[in-house]
Amino acid sequence: MMKTLALAGREDIALVSVAETRSGRLVEFVESLQPPFSREEKWILTVSTLDGCPVRCRFCDAGGPARGTLSREDILEQIDHLVRGRYPDGAVPTKKFKIQFARMGEPSLNPQVLEVLEDLPGIYDAPGLIPSFSTVAPAGTEAFFERLLDVKNRLYGPRFQMQFSIHTTDGELRDRLIPVKKWPFEKIAAYGTRFVEGDGRKVTLNFALGDGMPVDPRALLSFFPREAFLVKMTPVNPTHAAARNGIASTDRFLEETAARLRDAGYEVLVSIGEPEENRIGSNCGMYINLFRGQKASEAGYTYELRKPGTLHPAA
Ligand code: SF4
Repeated sequence: MMKTLALAGREDIALVSVAETRSGRLVEFVESLQPPFSREEKWILTVSTLDGCPVRCRFCDAGGPARGTLSREDILEQIDHLVRGRYPDGAVPTKKFKIQFARMGEPSLNPQVLEVLEDLPGIYDAPGLIPSFSTVAPAGTEAFFERLLDVKNRLYGPRFQMQFSIHTTDGELRDRLIPVKKWPFEKIAAYGTRFVEGDGRKVTLNFALGDGMPVDPRALLSFFPREAFLVKMTPVNPTHAAARNGIASTDRFLEETAARLRDAGYEVLVSIGEPEENRIGSNCGMYINLFRGQKASEAGYTYELRKPGTLHPAA
């Protein structure tokens, strides 16, 4: 059985768990709600797919020593722990039940994620299930993405959210922020367009937008058709890595950039989230590092890690 080692956060917004899987791996995962929606309306699980992450994006605390891929069981255990904790019979009545492969690790670097996606529909009675896959599209992952397209077409259709995190249209800055070889925009556009074919659910271009990061609508339009791609913008979370690299976001810059992309005809979602989520550290960041002894930052991770079975006063 999975052993919960520590918890942080609040049940009514987001609760981060640090746990040890049956195989002895340390994992971190989150369950969150999106007020004012109830759990029966929207419930979001965010699970880890790697232990650490070799990509080392400049604003993400998961980057660092990559301790390897998690197994299919390690990933499924995180999901099962959360599902059975709320719905012991595995019947999830939630209308939008999102499972995001987006906590610790770039998911396309772990083929076991494909096995998990194959398994999920057979494990739970969850008609609202929507897997959500976020990637920076590292080079050399072509075979993974071909299989992903096949799994999505066979098992999920439009009930699958695909998200490419590109963060800026400035090539040099993109290389600095995501310091690995990646697919160029042409390739993301060609794959994304195939992904949309058939079921019509748009692919998301995700920008964790730090102040001053260029997002040029004309550059975007030259690669990504508005019929196939939508844009999502979020602030950069107040992680240790972001603070070290001087990256921070203001709502104003986000809104101004979003307005320019709307003028260019894109559907744009701005997801600023609950300020409390930053304090909990549920948006990004790694409680595992705190668990391993690193210090909290001022704006994030300020909820203390607590032992299972003890409730935070604010919860
Ligand atoms: S943002 Fe994703 S890909 Fe980048 S270092 Fe963090 S976990 Fe890895």
